[in-house]
Amino acid sequence: VLSVEGLGFAYGARTVLSDIDLTVDPGELVAILGPSGSGKSTLLRLIAGLERPAGGRIAIGGTTVADARSSLPAERRGLGLVFQEDALFPHLTILDNVAFGLKGLPRSERRARALDALDRLGLADRADDWPHRLSGGEQQRVAVARALAPRPALVLMDEPFSRLDSALRQQIREDVVAVLRDTGVGVVLVTHDAEEAMSSADRLVLMADGRMLQTGTPEACYHRPVSVEAGRLLGPLN
Ligand code: ATP
Ligand code: MG
Repeated sequence: VLSVEGLGFAYGARTVLSDIDLTVDPGELVAILGPSGSGKSTLLRLIAGLERPAGGRIAIGGTTVADARSSLPAERRGLGLVFQEDALFPHLTILDNVAFGLKGLPRSERRARALDALDRLGLADRADDWPHRLSGGEQQRVAVARALAPRPALVLMDEPFSRLDSALRQQIREDVVAVLRDTGVGVVLVTHDAEEAMSSADRLVLMADGRMLQTGTPEACYHRPVSVEAGRLLGPLN
């Protein structure tokens, strides 16, 4: 569902990403792991259409959405997005928050889809409640439901669990990953948490300084790192 080839990006004179190649198959969960400042969020913003590449190509579902000459606007890329700082609209109910992105559908269909998405995340009984009455973990599950409601083929997540405290984080993450797998959606998960990447992903992409160090299954990356730098990102699990 996603193909990135030779992608490059710079903020002004400062090169932030170079020569990134990345594919995500339908239903695959790919985790991007790297230290702070390695360019993970920038890569996700490029795929989402929030930045334009300096070079290379991004294709979603076989259609080129961005290259050095042209870029399809974010809202026409058909992606689900879950970001760390995701806020729900405080003046809308949980149901209306989830239904917000379902424009162009009849009202009854919007409601049915939003309820279905909430049900998958175990929150159907909170549909008529207000965001401030939900815990942080519940709010983040609503954000996932909102991303899934339009039934995208690909979901991009940038540190979606990092604001949750650690006991809760693992439970929510396991629940959300199970839902994503059940849905069969392709997922790019950005994280700087090695344990999260190792336990959630089908495949890892290890990044440092805007470059890809290695890609492979968690086991392959862990047992056969291609460099000291790559090995240090994964372990021994610190
Ligand atoms: P973190 O784990 O801290 O979220 P990251 O891997 O997501 O880090 P990015 O946010 O992609 O890293 O940043 C990559 C580089 O681009 C960093 O050196 C950062 O300082 C720089 N950068 C990010 N946003 C901007 C901006 N708006 N203008 C200039 N430089 C930026
Ligand atoms: Mg980031």
